[in-house]
Amino acid sequence: MIQLFFPLSLRELWEIRSRFPQSRLFAGGTDLFVQRRYQTQDESPLIGLERIQELRTTAWEGDTFTVGAATPIRQLLEDDSVQTLLPVLAQGLACMGGPALRNMATIGGNLCTASPAGDSLPPLYVLGADVVLHSEFGRRSLPIKEFILGPGSTSLRCGEILHSIKISRPPPGSVQWYQKVGQRKANAIAIVSLAVLGRSAPDGGFQSIRLAWGSVGPTVITSREAEACLESSPLTMEKVNSAAQTARQAVAPIDDIRASAEYRRMLSGNLVYRLLR
Ligand SMILES: Cc1cc2nc3c(=O)[nH]c(=O)nc-3n(C[C@H](O)[C@H](O)[C@H](O)COP(=O)(O)OP(=O)(O)OC[C@H]3O[C@@H](n4cnc5c(N)ncnc54)[C@H](O)[C@@H]3O)c2cc1C
Repeated sequence: MIQLFFPLSLRELWEIRSRFPQSRLFAGGTDLFVQRRYQTQDESPLIGLERIQELRTTAWEGDTFTVGAATPIRQLLEDDSVQTLLPVLAQGLACMGGPALRNMATIGGNLCTASPAGDSLPPLYVLGADVVLHSEFGRRSLPIKEFILGPGSTSLRCGEILHSIKISRPPPGSVQWYQKVGQRKANAIAIVSLAVLGRSAPDGGFQSIRLAWGSVGPTVITSREAEACLESSPLTMEKVNSAAQTARQAVAPIDDIRASAEYRRMLSGNLVYRLLR
């Protein structure tokens, strides 16, 4: 029989983990329980995070938004400040699975799974989010791009949990956009996705722009060269073509059951045209 724990506080969590060091954490369980179906021999105890209130809390402090790691996706989508101030994140989260999944799945679970197709990752990259990691012995924080190391791999150390995510409010008037290409509109993992955060220039083009592609490499792909092509004013068709072409060279997609590498490469550039349209 598998033991199941639902601590009410971090202190209780550390205590359970010290008694059962081989235990596994889960938040919404939408990734973990799918994996466990195929690991029938794994009887390690499970610890649910859903009753630890501080992991489900969101708050603005000045221009910084802090999201508890175990906050369900639906709760974030119902937050007006996320919709109005962080639309690129809201658009990414709205693409995840379907309504039932979004009730259970959490933002922290999406990050810890570290799938290159995770829909919260490209938005959090362009927003320059930091993650806060806690253990029984202290806390540390690091930029998201240092947290995600590769497919299924993060820089969480033994005994650490993802506690929260910190996002700075982008300047007013920023262009924020997320596009996902999948096989269906719901319950479909991204074939390619693109998150964008930019500041428009008065005569067209962008003063500054950040681009992050999902599902086209071992982790989120960024390209300073493609961004630089769009940071020109006025923005000519030649520059847009160079940005799309540079994007196609920057990505490192693979063939899988959803799409070929070649199709993903082409789409990575096509999404740049779609952004500008
Ligand atoms: C039908 C279906 C459709 C899906 N569609 C999408 C989709 O469109 N887009 C998408 O991005 N994903 C999708 N997913 C994947 C999944 O729902 C998301 O990755 C989700 O955000 C995972 O969150 P969770 O809370 O359920 O994670 P869990 O399953 O609870 O945990 C996932 C992993 O993270 C670890 N973990 C969780 N929280 C913490 C924490 N605070 N600290 C340390 N470790 C932690 C767990 O130990 C586990 O290894 C889909 C899954 C299913 C089953």
